Amino acid sequence: MTMTRLSTTTLFIALALAGCGEKGAEQEAANSDLAQLASVAGGGISATPAANVSGERLLAAEAEPEQWMTYGGSYDETRHSTLSKINRDTLQDLGIGWVYDMKKPRGVEATPIVVDGVMYVSGSWSVVYALDAQTGEELWVYDPEVSGEDAAKGCCDVVNRGVAVYDGKVFVGVFDGRLEALDAKTGEVVWSQVTVDQSKPYTITGAPRVFKNKVIIGNGGAELGVRGYVTAYDTATGDLAWRFYTVPNPNKEPDGAASDDILAKLANETWGDTGAWTTDGGGGTVWDAIVYDSVNDQVLLGVGNGSPWNASIRDPEGDGDNLFLSSIVAVDADTGSYRWHYQTTPRDMWDYTATQPILLADLPLGEAGAPRRVVMQAPKNGFFYVIDAKSGDLISADAFTDMTWATGVDENGRPIEVPAARSLSEDYAVLPGPTGAHNWHPMSYSPDTGLVYIPTNIWPFLYSRPDPADPVKSNWNIGYREDAGWPLEIPAGGIEGMRGMGGGSLLAWDPVKGEARWAVPFPVPFNGGTLSVASGLVFQANKGGELVAYDAETGERMWSHGLVGGPGAAPMTYEIDGEQYLTILSGWGSTIAMIYGVVFEDAVGPETGRVITFKLGGQGELPKPLETGIARSPKSAPLGDEALQAKGLRLFAANCQWCHGAFAISSGVLPDLRWSAITSTEASWDAVLRDGALSARGMVSFGDRLDKEETDAIRAYVVKQAWDAVARGEADAPMSAGADVGAH
Ligand code: CA
Repeated sequence: MTMTRLSTTTLFIALALAGCGEKGAEQEAANSDLAQLASVAGGGISATPAANVSGERLLAAEAEPEQWMTYGGSYDETRHSTLSKINRDTLQDLGIGWVYDMKKPRGVEATPIVVDGVMYVSGSWSVVYALDAQTGEELWVYDPEVSGEDAAKGCCDVVNRGVAVYDGKVFVGVFDGRLEALDAKTGEVVWSQVTVDQSKPYTITGAPRVFKNKVIIGNGGAELGVRGYVTAYDTATGDLAWRFYTVPNPNKEPDGAASDDILAKLANETWGDTGAWTTDGGGGTVWDAIVYDSVNDQVLLGVGNGSPWNASIRDPEGDGDNLFLSSIVAVDADTGSYRWHYQTTPRDMWDYTATQPILLADLPLGEAGAPRRVVMQAPKNGFFYVIDAKSGDLISADAFTDMTWATGVDENGRPIEVPAARSLSEDYAVLPGPTGAHNWHPMSYSPDTGLVYIPTNIWPFLYSRPDPADPVKSNWNIGYREDAGWPLEIPAGGIEGMRGMGGGSLLAWDPVKGEARWAVPFPVPFNGGTLSVASGLVFQANKGGELVAYDAETGERMWSHGLVGGPGAAPMTYEIDGEQYLTILSGWGSTIAMIYGVVFEDAVGPETGRVITFKLGGQGELPKPLETGIARSPKSAPLGDEALQAKGLRLFAANCQWCHGAFAISSGVLPDLRWSAITSTEASWDAVLRDGALSARGMVSFGDRLDKEETDAIRAYVVKQAWDAVARGEADAPMSAGADVGAH
């Protein structure tokens, strides 16, 4: 991909518009035209009411393949389409139909929904867009105006994975913990519920799901310390229907929630009475997969990791399984009461969430090959699970990636752990790392090939117990040395050596045989989600910046088209007036780009999120990538001595790299601090780091967490990284080189 950079000034202006939670000029214009646009939506697009989606229609989604009415395409979330106009014979005519620029940059992860000619899609900062699905014309935009301070609570960028539509409403989970119902015709708020304790570091990035006049939402935040749960609300009124907590109340008392009975019966005894979980919530957040199983009338919850990650700090007393961390939990759709659970990683130790996408299908696993309805998941821990949907019985668990933490799953369905991975008596490189062998990127299942198409990741992590004699302050709360994990210094092999550490693949997995059929390798992790279609194709975007169609049986590359802005979302498809469309979102951000931009060939500019729609015979063009022009040069003379710089390195790794990139090398999502004017003087550095001058944009003050000497040390480290880049020939010495630069 073309290298793209902006000047520091331009970048800051762009980010000011983007991240501040204030409306930009375009946003104002969009909203002022709301009434006019709404009249278009009401009269011009479709004769049917907006978002006229009923429960009956959702149950029969297979009969309407031209629509894409739920996050995963149908209740079973297989992301398989029976539309066939885009096929092997016509593929070469696939071109750009239309492109819509979202109002804000940062990571874009959503799968759009298309109903009766209208596309409903969310972008970064939880902004919702309604577009004419044929032309991309904007119908309305809703910005919930998430504040920069709330943005700073996120582990993994201000992303949003999608909306739900039902009965004339569009539902969105807002980053700051709200669940909102919008009028599908106008984008106006019908009701809004705060679903979390906003004094705690909860966030919402996942898509709500609807079933039986209820809308359900989970939350995230286990890296910073929260207690996980899901809540179902009445779609019409927003009244709370039921709530299910995934881990016990710290005092093991009832919450007055649907989970009370089962926590008392099964879960409480799997937790001790002391430890970090009693103050930090224990984790178990349900931040992605929530799937309605219409056959068994139950909801499948994908439950996340422990908080903190390190079980011996989280729950030091015993060796209990810490239910329901890292589990799939099935609950009754009407009441939220417990049906069954399967725990993928008992007493989670490694951020092994089981909240990755869940899909449902009938596989020939019954008696004499009869169809058996199963739940499938490929969670972070690297095993592919096939589970009976009705009983919760484990059918199979097979490793789909290399791993160093376990050697298999025993007859009781428990992982056979490698003792060193849990004891951590010495530092241990665990694979899969916390990015997971598979993360949020949707997988698809084709009943034609019988294969599941999984975007996999390879990225190890060095787990290291914290040294009480040598602590380092961190804004994350994971119970390990937060300044470890990955190499602290650029390795001897240089940045190229870092790129060799990881990778990923598009993996075609046979869930009946429990083995891989084929794989397409990638040089970097976090490639996009998948869509399979009836004509025997699989579509996926990759971090190389292209959308590719593969032969679903063999993995042969059949077609590709460049994209702009670093895609990670999953494609989806729909049909209007006999013409088939295929849409993919692009943007630049989310976890891996924020932290490990260093693995990518070159930083991408802070591209706005985009909706890119293909169609046969499409002649449209993509926007040009943002132009470069940033001056890559240190803005200050070197600061401090080696000891101060080394102290700064550890503090940077523990507090700053999650957003600004390892080694202070940005992928372009946020400013590269090495070239930032903020480093030029002590006063400007302190204004931002200590006084919160940019908190409205999401850069909150660290003044209450780090003392003055510590923030000075971070500045000295960042400036050192800038001069190291000069020494490597990757940046220019300032014109007035040396000690004069930015002296103060
Ligand atoms: Ca996590």
